[in-house]
Amino acid sequence: MKDKIAEERASLNARQSLWPNYSPPEDLVFTHGIGSELFSEDGGSYLDFLSGIAVTSFGHSHPYLNNALKNQADKLWHVSNLFRIPAAESLAERLVKHSFADSVFFANSGAEAVEAGLKAIRGYHAASGNPKRTRIIGFSDSFHGRTIATVAAAGNKSHMQNFVPGDQGFDQVEWGNYEALEIAVDDCTAGIILEPVQGEGGIRPITHEFLSSIRKLCDERGVLLFFDEVQCGIGRTGHLFAHQHYGLNPDVMALAKGLGGGFPIGACLTTKEVGGSMVVGTHGSTFGGNPLATAVGNAVMDLLLEDGTLTKVIEKGSYLNKELKRLQLRHHDFLDSVHGLGLMIGVKCKIPCADLAFSLRNNNLLVGQSGANMVRLLPPLNVAEPELEKAISIFDKTLNEITR
Ligand SMILES: *Cc1c(COP(=O)(O)O)cnc(C)c1O
Repeated sequence: MKDKIAEERASLNARQSLWPNYSPPEDLVFTHGIGSELFSEDGGSYLDFLSGIAVTSFGHSHPYLNNALKNQADKLWHVSNLFRIPAAESLAERLVKHSFADSVFFANSGAEAVEAGLKAIRGYHAASGNPKRTRIIGFSDSFHGRTIATVAAAGNKSHMQNFVPGDQGFDQVEWGNYEALEIAVDDCTAGIILEPVQGEGGIRPITHEFLSSIRKLCDERGVLLFFDEVQCGIGRTGHLFAHQHYGLNPDVMALAKGLGGGFPIGACLTTKEVGGSMVVGTHGSTFGGNPLATAVGNAVMDLLLEDGTLTKVIEKGSYLNKELKRLQLRHHDFLDSVHGLGLMIGVKCKIPCADLAFSLRNNNLLVGQSGANMVRLLPPLNVAEPELEKAISIFDKTLNEITR
């Protein structure tokens, strides 16, 4: 019986049983990871500067996170929100203490955290006697997830096609175009959603000027401001939240990716007024904020809030940025420019970024890709300095090979 199960699990053609919506490299399978390194089945080792897309914020197999997970696993995995979950309460309290927010809803992913925020925005206006205010404005080149509402919020036509009938109550404005935004806001507008640092659409931090005009416009017109910090939050840019670089607060914020260090968890943070409208029966999630997820989330917060963690993210980010700019000058036929904040860095390429990412992988450095033909670097927040140097030297070597 046991042997038969093992045989079934090891089936070689299992991959065909997955939807064909992803296209991973055929011959690369990771078996384990330690810190910033991933090890493959065929004995290879890779420097992981993708971190599962900004998810493994403290690298792989961090002993402190592993312990938090194992300890909780031995006690209680799940009870549902029909009962109090002390770890969720304490994680929420800590997120509140370190942010603009007064209350939190836990989800399992980024898209769900965004959806919760979109609902809360509409729920708030309905509860305040403005049921007409339902429309939400998103920006070009945004990414908010792959559910129907989050795809509609970002308005990316290639993501919407065949799946999203109509506009689902969302309007789109060009990123950076304040005049267009001012015209788009009317008395049906409920909220504006944006990423303080755009991720998938190209690593683009919003300008101070654009963001402060948006905040002012929202205040004047009674519109709620929603920051999607699913990628740029949780220390990625060197502040706990990216918007803290700007000294301006939203009314709603979504978090996910880095919050569980690899364990799925999302969170939607809101002001008292917005969160207060989400009374019993308005929203829910079976798994959201369960004991396992919030035990790990609390452990990630412990590491983030440790003295020096965020300062070092700023230092390492500026080192990486500076060294990449040096490479850009040396290899200006291939590299156009370097963008980003903290350890969220995009290198705009003059050759197809997929080709560069592929060559870097062949030299054992894993990176991501992003819109605007960028290679995207998202190393763990606790990446070691020698690992940054190693990544730069792989980059240099790879570009030299392309030159030849
Ligand atoms: C990844 C991402 C999401 C979606 O998160 P999922 O966990 O994949 O649902 C939403 N917003 C931003 C900015 C993201 O980077």
